Amino acid sequence: MLGINGSGQEKKSMLAVSLEVLHKAADRLGLDQSMRNILSKPQRILSVAVPVRMDDGSIQVFDGYRVQHSLARGPAKGGIRYHPEVTMDEVIALAMSMTWKCAVVNIPYGGAKGGVVVDPTKLSIGELERLTRRFTSEISIILGPEKDIPAPDMNTNAQVMAWLMDTYSMHKGYSIPSVVTGKPIEIGGSLGRLDATSRGLVYTILELVKKTGMKLEGARVAVQGYGNVGSHAAVFLQELGCRIVAVSDVYGGLCNDNGLDCKAIKQVAAETGTIMEYKGAAEEIPREEVLEVPVDILVPAALGNQIHGGNAHRIEAKVIAEGANGPTTTEADRILQDKGTIIIPDILANAGGVTVSYFEWVQGIQSLSWSESQVAAELERRMVSSFNDVYERAQREDVDMRTAAYLIAVERVAQAIKLRGIYP
Ligand code: NAD
Repeated sequence: MLGINGSGQEKKSMLAVSLEVLHKAADRLGLDQSMRNILSKPQRILSVAVPVRMDDGSIQVFDGYRVQHSLARGPAKGGIRYHPEVTMDEVIALAMSMTWKCAVVNIPYGGAKGGVVVDPTKLSIGELERLTRRFTSEISIILGPEKDIPAPDMNTNAQVMAWLMDTYSMHKGYSIPSVVTGKPIEIGGSLGRLDATSRGLVYTILELVKKTGMKLEGARVAVQGYGNVGSHAAVFLQELGCRIVAVSDVYGGLCNDNGLDCKAIKQVAAETGTIMEYKGAAEEIPREEVLEVPVDILVPAALGNQIHGGNAHRIEAKVIAEGANGPTTTEADRILQDKGTIIIPDILANAGGVTVSYFEWVQGIQSLSWSESQVAAELERRMVSSFNDVYERAQREDVDMRTAAYLIAVERVAQAIKLRGIYP
């Protein structure tokens, strides 16, 4: 299970890494081989061929997947991504990660993920809608508010979720908003969903600050990736008194030792598609260098595998709060642990998104809506208590927070499987 990453280095596949992390937790928990066998395999994989009539009248057939890794703690939950490099292995690994993420924040879901092998930038809006509707139709046999609830992921958004919800509802003959989260507010989406991941991430940083005595006022921060997660996190942290000294997007990096104007950069990125069009006080730097700027807090919020064996030695951050999924390779993790870097792991740090998705589902099945402040307060309560569970477990077992988060998550899922027993 070896592949080559962008920098030409050999790396393990995402699934190989996910299994390694699972077995590490299983060793420490003393799980027997039978339980490991159950946890290592997805419960269901649905592979579908999705024929779509293109605008020129031809038919193209796209490969799609929906994987439910575990249903032990409740219905399956996880996003759907559209990307030309989607593979079934990657979808399995991402579904497994959703199982642990939902368990670590203790929401009553198992993990799922879906994907279609497609470059959506090459589709017209009509083609995108027909693809979404036919893919939904193909996987609808395993979807449902009590079965499996998709959400947006890479290259899918609220509009795609609206088409998915409509297609599923047309099959059943009545409106079923709770089959999906991340919908537009007008058809049952939740207030506070857009910035939920960043808000959740900031709550975990605030808790860490309380534990360590570190000061947020004047703390130097770098943020990699300035999309949904990165831009909101930068603005929230600046509002709390942090000095955001470096940010990046796919086109490059900006730095200013006196602090960047995060709101203005967010506005420019929204209007032009990149932070690099920002004309205020900032120096341009290569995007990779943003990770290595001397800071107190680093927020990787772009892609996976950005912090690797090749650059981990040069990362000076005291704290890394993982907004992205899987930004740190196992090798980098070891290097950073040796240096004493505190890492708030992805399955905890970025779980605010799925937590508010859960609130959206809860509001949907009860046919009521919460205010934005209610959503934020409930999110804070859950993130704070999950952070404290992980922090205390890490202290008690003398392990890093990533290991502690996996111990809690894997233990909760294993316990659910044990209590339910094996059917028949
Ligand atoms: P997004 O598409 O809104 O933003 C991604 C940002 O990363 C963009 O600014 C893009 O230009 C930048 N980027 C891409 N490649 C880069 C590179 N090599 N160097 C620097 N910047 C680069 O995505 P998002 O929703 O903000 O998600 C970001 C990460 O957070 C992803 O890993 C995603 O899986 C994870 N995540 C997102 C959510 C959520 O609610 N949006 C929840 C959990 C996890």
